[in-house]
Amino acid sequence: MNAHQVATVLALAVTLGTSSAGAQTFTTDDPVLRHIWAMGMDSSRTYEFAQVLMDSIGPRLTGTPELEAAGNWLVAHYTSWGIPARTEQYGTWKGWRRGPTHVDLIRPRVRTLEATMLAWSPGTQSAVEGEVVALPMVERPDEFTTWLSTARGKFVLISPPQTTCRPDEGWERFADSSVYRKMRETRDRRARDWEVRIERTGSTASTLPSVLERGGVAGVLTSTWSGGWGVTRIFGARTEEVPSLDLSCEDYGLLFRLAENAQGPVLSVEAHGERLGEVPVYNTIAEVRGVSLPDEYVVLSSHLDSWDGGSGATDTGAGTIAILEAMRILKEVYPEPKRTILVGHWGGEEQGLNGSRAFAEDNPSVVQGLHVLLNFDIGTGVVNDISMQGMMGAGEHFARWFAQMPSELSGPLKLTLPGTPHSGGTDHASFLCYGVPAFRFGGREWDYFTYTWHTNRDTFDKLVFEEVRHNATLIAAMTYLAAEDPERVSRERRDAFPTDAGTGAVMTWPTCRDPERSSPGPGN
Ligand SMILES: [Zn+2]
Repeated sequence: MNAHQVATVLALAVTLGTSSAGAQTFTTDDPVLRHIWAMGMDSSRTYEFAQVLMDSIGPRLTGTPELEAAGNWLVAHYTSWGIPARTEQYGTWKGWRRGPTHVDLIRPRVRTLEATMLAWSPGTQSAVEGEVVALPMVERPDEFTTWLSTARGKFVLISPPQTTCRPDEGWERFADSSVYRKMRETRDRRARDWEVRIERTGSTASTLPSVLERGGVAGVLTSTWSGGWGVTRIFGARTEEVPSLDLSCEDYGLLFRLAENAQGPVLSVEAHGERLGEVPVYNTIAEVRGVSLPDEYVVLSSHLDSWDGGSGATDTGAGTIAILEAMRILKEVYPEPKRTILVGHWGGEEQGLNGSRAFAEDNPSVVQGLHVLLNFDIGTGVVNDISMQGMMGAGEHFARWFAQMPSELSGPLKLTLPGTPHSGGTDHASFLCYGVPAFRFGGREWDYFTYTWHTNRDTFDKLVFEEVRHNATLIAAMTYLAAEDPERVSRERRDAFPTDAGTGAVMTWPTCRDPERSSPGPGN
């Protein structure tokens, strides 16, 4: 698409968009769109779906019974509505069941700490007591080896301590600017010093935990603060024998200061985690076959797996239930689609898009027949941005679909034309790399990166149901319009690419990567 065509598409969208503003919200009399709107906005079941998925089933880490339960729960819903659905094994992953964790500071004073075992971490058999020590600043690796022999049976702090656990916005608002600047300088210096501390052990941040456990430590303590009040990110453990525990920003800071000032902190840790060996992992697929173009696909895509520090509400329980709700609506108001509507609730996204990459590899006919894929992995916020990812012919289709929607849905939408293709980030990339029209939604941020993404605070309460309901209705409307589209979205790709600001090289179309179909070895 050249610049003139881009301008024309945008003008079309803007003209049709503004003509619907004001008293009238529908631009067409299409009864299906009216019905979608009525069901989606007036009798939404998103709250009910979210409450069960996030509160009762809980987080859905790959390899856990919860992810399997969530897949079965989706299949049961689809089946009850008469939509064929199945779970499809794409590989295996390390299996794990999280048990209760208690971490108490018992000396020099008592405090129950906010601590979470990292995903797939080994547990303890019973309560283990041990002194807390910080990773030392050594000169050379051999000095570290000598130190390690003194750390046997102790818990080791391996993350850089924060200067403050107050969010920056508070400092910016209340502190004198020179004080704020000084705090940031101190923080940056501490982070650099910590990198040196790790480097001088002769290990890297990723190999250090296994070196420590081979040295006989009682456990590894980390803190991955995301910059907000009380928020920490919970990723995967890198130990195989002893527990890896993440502490809240300030509980970690407390232990660090006690240890550095030789005030003898001692912990009592009881952490249960059951390792289940390699277990099968699945994608959950639902499909309504197209009546006249069954080999052309509209794919609704969203990962079902999550990290497990919270309950995976915004990453992306919100996407899961928006698609589930859209399918409930579509089955009722548009039961015989022109093209096939296929839903992919993927597993293994958080470990590298493994479920969706495997599905694309295993189902060349879906990739071949892809009309459009819409991926939903944006948290709770209203969809307001869709990049065309370098697919030159897609913009005119999206503009046409938007123009037929109620202005409440199309109003916030912005098309980015022609956009550049993503090589990762979320599951549309698993399809886009084949050069087929696969897109992701962008949405209102709602403090996603500071407060919910991969954190211990990604919980039910963070969902904004007006926006989830809006998105479910939007997805239903877009799916209907895409499935009915008189023309198929072209595969013409952008040929002139901008320079990547990071590497200085001219960007190219991303290549497809192989999925990991089993878990990597120890230490990963
Ligand atoms: Zn996600």
